[in-house]
Amino acid sequence: MLIVQKYGGTSVGDAERIRNVARRAISARKEGHDVVVVVSAMAGETNRLLKLTCEIARRPSQREQDVVVSTGEQVSVGLLALAIQEMKAKARSFLGHQVRILTDSAFANARIRSIDDTNLRESLRKKEIAVVAGFQGIDEHGNITTLGRGGSDTTAVALAAALKADACEIYTDVDGVYTTDPRVCERARKLQRISYEEMLELASLGSKVLQIRSVEFAMKYKVPLWVKSSFTGDPGTLVCEEDAAMEDVLVSGIALTRDESRFVVRGVPDKPGIAAKVFGSLAEQGVVVDVIVQTPAREDGRTDMAFTVGRLDVEKTNELVRRIGKQIGAGKVDHEEGIAKVSIVGVGMRNHAGVAAKMFQVLADEGVNIRVISTSEIKISCLIDEKYAELAVRALHTAFGLDKTETAKS
Ligand code: ASP
Ligand code: MG
Repeated sequence: MLIVQKYGGTSVGDAERIRNVARRAISARKEGHDVVVVVSAMAGETNRLLKLTCEIARRPSQREQDVVVSTGEQVSVGLLALAIQEMKAKARSFLGHQVRILTDSAFANARIRSIDDTNLRESLRKKEIAVVAGFQGIDEHGNITTLGRGGSDTTAVALAAALKADACEIYTDVDGVYTTDPRVCERARKLQRISYEEMLELASLGSKVLQIRSVEFAMKYKVPLWVKSSFTGDPGTLVCEEDAAMEDVLVSGIALTRDESRFVVRGVPDKPGIAAKVFGSLAEQGVVVDVIVQTPAREDGRTDMAFTVGRLDVEKTNELVRRIGKQIGAGKVDHEEGIAKVSIVGVGMRNHAGVAAKMFQVLADEGVNIRVISTSEIKISCLIDEKYAELAVRALHTAFGLDKTETAKS
């Protein structure tokens, strides 16, 4: 088998942990597998490097910033290769450009275009453990690029796809994907399996286990993805294609996003181009808009438009929306903070009725008022007051049968 293993920052946080990773990679090699290991920068290192660039320049050029932050991974691959060699096994380190991970030129947020597998194949043929720097690549002009925060996950999955690996194992400081955040709900249960689509929804809803792009990549190329702990022997969670058994489960996970702010633009003229204007201007300013709801036009030919943004974008949004509101002849703009979004996710929703009704009933029974509802094929989200967020998550967790049982307790 060919296995790609990825270890995050905490897993390579110090010399002893790096040796621990070396032992794991060697043991996979000894089982007879070809092993490619992708590593992140040591814990805290990327932040430290980013900060340094900001101490030198008020608005650092992104090209040079990538030159600086990509060095964190250079240190880790060198150290890990040394640790493996010290244990009398063969290893060779590779930076992005030495593999040839070709990306576009979007510094700080580059996308992988292609991967040349020649050098890695050659290394594996020599029975070496190939140790590859995560998070970095090179563009067609030879510039160093980075893939966005958490990008080593994407490096690993992309390599697994390019090498047609049998498995991609993401080692992190949690032992898998949970039904919900265990810090919010102590009855959260570790999932044995979850579908790509569900994982994608959970990742985009703020569960930080995997970079979203890595899940998209895995889904596109059908790479079986394991999320495991680098500190235990736990089998972890498998992210894979959906099968019939998964559809029997109505809800697989519950996600919570806090700190949203809701804007309502009232009395918007109901004619073509208005939504494009409002959200186009927000997008131009880099504001990421989350839930959008527009009410049907009233008799006076006007509608209300509601949407949410994260707390960091509130000021920008407020100013912009008021200005555009005037331009398009809308009424007043309301704005409130302290909103949370609770979402239930599950592929089983596709062919089962009544899931939404049940969610609303559970919230009603807890006296939680729903401000806005939005749905997709496998997800239902409700905006509620932030102060009820944890209560809502726990109630839904129990109601949809996600609580861990005594026997499943680990
Ligand atoms: N070191 C990079 C970061 O901190 C990439 C990664 O950890 O995946 O974002
Ligand atoms: Mg990470």
